Amino acid sequence: MTVKVSHTSEIQNLFNEAAGLNNDQGSPRVKQIMLRLINDAAKLIEDLEITDDEFWHAVDYLNRLGGRNEAGLLVPGLGLEHFLDILQDAKDAQIGLSGGTPRTIEGPLYVAGAPVCEGEARMDDGTELDQATVMFLEGVVRDTDGQPVAGAVVDLWHANTQGNYSYFDQSQSAYNLRRRIVTDSEGRYRARSIVPSGYGCSPDGPTQECLNLLGRHGQRPAHIHFFISAPGHRHLTTQINLDGEQYLWDDFAYATRDGLVGDIQFIEDAAAARDRGVEGSRFATLQFNFQLQQAPAPAAEQRSGRPRALQGA
Ligand code: FE
Repeated sequence: MTVKVSHTSEIQNLFNEAAGLNNDQGSPRVKQIMLRLINDAAKLIEDLEITDDEFWHAVDYLNRLGGRNEAGLLVPGLGLEHFLDILQDAKDAQIGLSGGTPRTIEGPLYVAGAPVCEGEARMDDGTELDQATVMFLEGVVRDTDGQPVAGAVVDLWHANTQGNYSYFDQSQSAYNLRRRIVTDSEGRYRARSIVPSGYGCSPDGPTQECLNLLGRHGQRPAHIHFFISAPGHRHLTTQINLDGEQYLWDDFAYATRDGLVGDIQFIEDAAAARDRGVEGSRFATLQFNFQLQQAPAPAAEQRSGRPRALQGA
C-alpha cells in the first residue's frame, strides 16, 4: 500500500509557505507556478514511489545539465519544444489564424547580431572549402495572399560540416554560417554557403545520458534555422530539414514537419560550377520560399523573449 502525505494539511501548509504564499513580496505568477511544481513533484514521488537514490541522482543530473548548458537541448529531446509549437498551432486554429509556412522549434543555438546583408549573402568564411559542398540557397518571402514581402529580414543559421555552430564552437570565426539577409524589392533572398551536416548531442553530455536511459539516439538531420520577420507580419521561427537525410523523420528534437523539407539538389557540372564561381564540379542548390502570416497585433512581429546568446547585439 503506497503511503501518501502530500495532501495532508501539514504538507500543504509547508508547500504554501515554501512557494511564498504567506508573504506579499515577490511575484504572484512565480508563486503560482512554483506551488504547482512542488505539488506535482511531490505527487510524482508518491505515485511512482521514487527512491532516495533516484531523487538525489535526479538532483545531481540537474546540476550537471546546467553545468553543461544543455537544458535547452534536453527540452526539444523530450518533445517539449515541439509540444509548444503544436499548442500554439491549436491556439491559432481556435481563433482562425492559419496559413503561411509552418513554425518549428528554434533550438538553443541562435546568436543575435549576425551581419546584415542586402538581398544576398556569402555565409561561410571559406575555411571548409576543401571538405564542404558549396550550397546556393534562395527563395522568396511572400504574404499569405502570395504577394512578395520586400524588406523582410531572413535571419538564418546552420552548422558546419562537423555539425558545429559558430560561437558555441570557438574554433570557427565570429558569425560563421550566420547572416541576416534583407529581401529585395521582389521579396527575394539569396545565400551562398556550404551544405550543413546533421549532428548529435555530445556523447558524453547529460542530454545523451538521459536519451541512453530512454533507449533513444540523439541525432538530427542536416537543417537550416530561420527567423523571418517583416513589419506588419507575424514573426516566423522555422527550419528547413534537408531531404535524403537519414534522420529526416527520426529527429531526436522532433523539428521536421510537413512543409519544411528542403529539396536539396546536388549537381555535378564543371561548367555550371565555374559559372557560379565554385572550384571543382560539385555544388548544391536549394530553393525554399516562405509565407508570413499577417501580424494580428504589433507584438506578434517580434520573436519570443527567450534568452539568447549576445542578446543585446
Ligand atoms: Fe540546429
